[in-house]
Amino acid sequence: MPTNRSQALWERAQRVIPGGVNSPVRAMKSVGLNPPFIRRAQGCYIKDADGNRYIDYVGSWGPMILGHAQPDVIEAIKAAAEKGTSYGAPTEAEVILAEELCRWVPSLEMVRLVSSGTEATMSALRLARGFTGRELIVKFDGCYHGHGDGLLVSAGSGLATLGLPACPGVPAAVAGLTLSLPYNDLAAAEALFAARGAEIAAVIVEPVAGNMGVVLPVEGFLAGLRRLCDAHGALLIFDEVITGFRVGPGGAQELFGVMPDLTTLGKIIGGGLPMGAYGGKAQIMAHIAPEGPVYQAGTLSGNPLATAAGLATLEFLAGKAVYPRLEELGAMLYNGLEGLFAAKGLACFGQRVGSMMCFFFQPGPVTNYEQAKQSDTELFSRYYRLMLARGIYFAPSQFEATFVSLAHDAAAIDQTLSAVADALKEL
Ligand code: PMP
Repeated sequence: MPTNRSQALWERAQRVIPGGVNSPVRAMKSVGLNPPFIRRAQGCYIKDADGNRYIDYVGSWGPMILGHAQPDVIEAIKAAAEKGTSYGAPTEAEVILAEELCRWVPSLEMVRLVSSGTEATMSALRLARGFTGRELIVKFDGCYHGHGDGLLVSAGSGLATLGLPACPGVPAAVAGLTLSLPYNDLAAAEALFAARGAEIAAVIVEPVAGNMGVVLPVEGFLAGLRRLCDAHGALLIFDEVITGFRVGPGGAQELFGVMPDLTTLGKIIGGGLPMGAYGGKAQIMAHIAPEGPVYQAGTLSGNPLATAAGLATLEFLAGKAVYPRLEELGAMLYNGLEGLFAAKGLACFGQRVGSMMCFFFQPGPVTNYEQAKQSDTELFSRYYRLMLARGIYFAPSQFEATFVSLAHDAAAIDQTLSAVADALKEL
């Protein structure tokens, strides 16, 4: 595989961009590679600066559920762009998108659009604190909720990949307001609420964790958090930035039948353009300015291009049998991988919800971050390099999810499985 052009860009990038990338997880440092620089993407494929083509299972880290450059989405963006790229004033499309989000996600009554998942979670926490008049936030180890100061405590995603338990620059006074517990440990949450329940503004959780690898909630975990929050007057926030419109049309809350007070969204709802949202009960959302005193704003919030891309994406997802198809494709890849790992005698522990999955390089089970960290990351890195060299583009970390899109098909998945079979001979 030629890499000259990517290499040259990598050298230039490192001179002017910290670590050569605009988001740490892209660097591929932990798997011992320099990243290919991407020039274009179509369907389930991405192409790099040297002309190498890869089958993509990153999907821009979640948004590209329809595949890349999906024609309806591109048309919608073009049509919106011709009418102007930003007004800083209300539009009909924003109203329609808000209505659609409230229609699809069962607990949403009102929603505010922002420009990233990070903004959504930061704003939801401020609202929870403003609404309850309390300061403490409870999160779970290995969950990632964007890079807001108080959320970088024991966080997943790039911090897991790079092994960063805390982040310099976050004041101790701020970090001290976040209490982090082991994922799936309801007893730990009960004990914390028993001790400090009256100070807790909110519990924020990924209802399916996707930033320490993929970890499912154990039976009763989410419902238990709901009960605890109700008993102590705290708000329950589901961070559905990954799971929203991914694990099902109504997100994880619909799948597991547990309703949060607030939900954060991102990724898919912007169709690959910058977009996030937070919403929930009208009575809580009424505390946001200008209706209420909790301030939150954004120059580009509800941007016409992002709104158009998001609406086109949701419209496509509303089509017939879309989620069954995602389930079918997800199962095809997952079952194939599971069989190949087993035949090789590799102890791998897999988890999957629909089109979102991961295999931990360890026997498992993995129900929390401590266990996820027991994975053989050295072996994962070797596997990763063998796969990339065979034109298969997975997320370059043991602690990230693999995503299948509607643009994948049996042929692409077969080709992926053949590449895995071939790579495993060398592993
Ligand atoms: N929450 C979750 C669950 C996420 O996975 C992410 C990003 N991967 C975020 C929040 C932050 O979103 P963004 O990168 O758009 O700021």
